[in-house]
Amino acid sequence: MDDPNLTVIAIDGPAGAGKSTVARLLARRLSYLYLDTGAMYRAVTWQALHEKADLDDGDALAELARRTQLKLVPDAQGIRVFANGREITDEIRSPEVTSKVSYIDKVPGVREAMVKLQREFGRAGRIVAEGRDMGTVVFPDAACKIYLDASVDARAGRRCQELRGRGVDACLADVKRDIVARDAKTMQREIAPLRQADDAVRVDTTHLSVDEVVDEISRIAESRQGM
Ligand code: C5P
Repeated sequence: MDDPNLTVIAIDGPAGAGKSTVARLLARRLSYLYLDTGAMYRAVTWQALHEKADLDDGDALAELARRTQLKLVPDAQGIRVFANGREITDEIRSPEVTSKVSYIDKVPGVREAMVKLQREFGRAGRIVAEGRDMGTVVFPDAACKIYLDASVDARAGRRCQELRGRGVDACLADVKRDIVARDAKTMQREIAPLRQADDAVRVDTTHLSVDEVVDEISRIAESRQGM
């Protein structure tokens, strides 16, 4: 398998569809690298808040994204995230970062910096990359593209459980409202909007267990790699 694109698995989809859990387990099963690109946008958002940057100043945010040293270190739970040497693994999941990330992810210069880094991670192949624009923008030649989806209620329920598991007092109605608003922003933004790539396979996870989803994507990846 000389072409690295044959071993790139690109997973996109809306918030709460199960992308992170599934991508992490799939990467472990295949001994591939797991790339959580949402964590990268969250880390830049955290850094911008930390520096009290003007969230309406696109040039300043792009400059901040270029000079912030991001480090993603895989571990048993997922990945540990560092910005300029400081660990911010838990901080990037805070409600504050979540509510501000859409200021950051719509800035062209920020996306350029992130896409460059993401392609560096994927250059050698053997990667499971998840986000919103993996199949459409970052890895357009990936052999295996998945669009992971689920009903809004299922997604909100999962996100709520995940937050409560981390000790955050989450209310289902609020989480649902947040998910709907965040999806609308990512689907309607001008740059790299969330959409299913033409050659992606849609997997609806509403009634599937995590293991069933991982099995299904493994099957799709195997058949695509044998193309
Ligand atoms: O997946 P996660 O919820 O951690 O992503 C955080 C935010 O980063 C998303 O709401 C989305 O707006 C943005 N994002 C993006 N492009 C990606 C991954 C995430 O714009 N490839």
